[in-house]
Amino acid sequence: MAFQEDPRLMESKAIPMKEVVDRLGIMGLRATGQELIGPCPCCGGRDRFGVNIQSNAFLCRKCEITGGDQIALVMSVLNVDFKAALQWLCGDAPAQIDPEEMKRRKEKAAAAERKQQREQARYRKWAMDAALGIWKQGRWGGLGVVPAYLRARGILPDALVEGIPDALRFIVDHPYVKKIDGKNETVHRGPCMIAGVLCPRGELTAVHQTWVDTKPPHGKAKIIWKGEDMPAKLVRGSKKAGAIRLFTPENADTLVMGEGIETTLSALVANPLPDAAYWAGVDLGNMSGRMQKVKGKRHSGLPDMTDTDAFVPPPWVKKLIFIMDGDSAPEMTHAKLLSGLRRAMAVRAGLETEIVQAGPGVDLNDVLIGESA
Ligand SMILES: [Zn+2]
Repeated sequence: MAFQEDPRLMESKAIPMKEVVDRLGIMGLRATGQELIGPCPCCGGRDRFGVNIQSNAFLCRKCEITGGDQIALVMSVLNVDFKAALQWLCGDAPAQIDPEEMKRRKEKAAAAERKQQREQARYRKWAMDAALGIWKQGRWGGLGVVPAYLRARGILPDALVEGIPDALRFIVDHPYVKKIDGKNETVHRGPCMIAGVLCPRGELTAVHQTWVDTKPPHGKAKIIWKGEDMPAKLVRGSKKAGAIRLFTPENADTLVMGEGIETTLSALVANPLPDAAYWAGVDLGNMSGRMQKVKGKRHSGLPDMTDTDAFVPPPWVKKLIFIMDGDSAPEMTHAKLLSGLRRAMAVRAGLETEIVQAGPGVDLNDVLIGESA
């Protein structure tokens, strides 16, 4: 008999969700409007689990169990298939969870989480060691492909206040290794610009790698794997809360940050602000951190302060300026930058912030001078 034809299916849908929750022994849920919110019965994640008793939809934001009806909830919590869940809800089988079984499940979930955390820590350590290895192999950026690449991107090395930043090195023959279908593949090798990503404590925790074309004008390398274009840039290690510290003058009190090395150096070349440091934030996600989800808004622009892995400026920064690239999705980009600036303001009292646009037709130089006046 097909599931749809089983009369117990209708029967199961008639059971109030609250009753299913009770029968499953899901404890500690608080009623908030139409929702029951609390610890997840599967992963134990605190306040991450919610059931809507009106729509019957449920979701854990941590382990990502999700569904829209009684049977799906039973399937997720008891980890059984559709047939068994239906039997449990509407059949003759005992429909109460044995307390010993509940305890066992809880312990199992906790042990699984501890194991996952250990594995993540091990991987992080391995990736950071690998990043340090790459950095140590790198040679001084004043030589080799770094000046050629920057020139190709419109940044004249002579125009940089202190020349090529110490944060930039290069490797002549650097393998481009990427995990594809669970296997480490060397997709490409060649000259590569290596940028050090320093964590807030000033230790190198990641490298940002840009493979450079061997042919003039030495732009980004074209990397193709099985007919597919691959990004010429890869980060190895842990970039969390880190930055590529391109230029940090003594007595700096302002920090100008763009997403990429090129944007940030362009700002520096355009016209360096006095007493301003220029750091690249590696990527938008790192600059913004996690954003709050607000109903009816796609991008809230409000920082989720429980995210402790996002970039926050050091205490010496009195003014933080984010550069907005004139790329695609300006609405999302702007919201993310706003989220990052608001996070920084929440952490550093009295911080001044600003977003400057480097969009088409806008001279970054004019913007920086104009806005800072
Ligand atoms: Zn969960």
